[in-house]
Amino acid sequence: MVKALTDTYTTFKSIFTGMGITMRHLFKRSVTVQYPEVRDKLPERVRLKLHVNIDDCIGCRLCERACPVECIDIGTIKSTDDDDLGETSTGHKKKLWVDTFDIDMAKCCYCELCVHPCPTDCITMVEEYEYSAYDRNDLIFSFADMTPEQIERANRKLEEEEEEKRRKKEEARRAREKKAAQKAEAGDDATSPGNASDDAGGTRTEAGASGDADADADREARRAAREARRAARKAEREAKKRSGE
Ligand code: SF4
Ligand code: SF4
Repeated sequence: MVKALTDTYTTFKSIFTGMGITMRHLFKRSVTVQYPEVRDKLPERVRLKLHVNIDDCIGCRLCERACPVECIDIGTIKSTDDDDLGETSTGHKKKLWVDTFDIDMAKCCYCELCVHPCPTDCITMVEEYEYSAYDRNDLIFSFADMTPEQIERANRKLEEEEEEKRRKKEEARRAREKKAAQKAEAGDDATSPGNASDDAGGTRTEAGASGDADADADREARRAAREARRAARKAEREAKKRSGE
């Protein structure tokens, strides 16, 4: 009997407490908004989505290096001497083609560390938050606007220019060696100190040739690394696409 009375009391108390709260809020100003018809004003310096003004990007990769979660992927191609890429709106001369600029917003932690080091202020947080997607791959945003043909052309031009520079260097080296040989021939009758000096000249030529070879090897290694990075990025993108299908 006592239990029944206690239960009845608890039941009515709960009903009246709940109804009391409901009645109180019925006459208060509503705090909910009818999204998406009504939208609240966003706070200043809100961090929502990254945007890149690719026309102002000089491909320095400072943003990529600053990112703690490695969600920025930038690929660049050196411009050739006859290419004029122009300037950014901040007056920085552009020397690199930016063939890839991807930001994976699914990985981004909105720290904004990539924004501050940018010398041309072209990477910014924008007030855009309606970009949810069913597939994580749809959260990878690409900002580079070069077509495959333009990329191919820029790569080919760079290779041709490097080849031309290599050829000229080789010719200059051969000319130097020829000159040294002629000098050595002319100095056949000279005294031993002269010969010693020729020997030194020969050593310098050999050192120069070895330096050229090192520079060539270095360039080759850089090109191979660039190609490998590009292939890895492509494979990763394709794998992601496949896994999303
Ligand atoms: S906001 Fe932070 S996590 Fe996101 S891309 Fe920039 S540096 Fe990386
Ligand atoms: S820091 Fe700025 S200019 Fe440099 S690569 Fe990033 S977005 Fe481009």
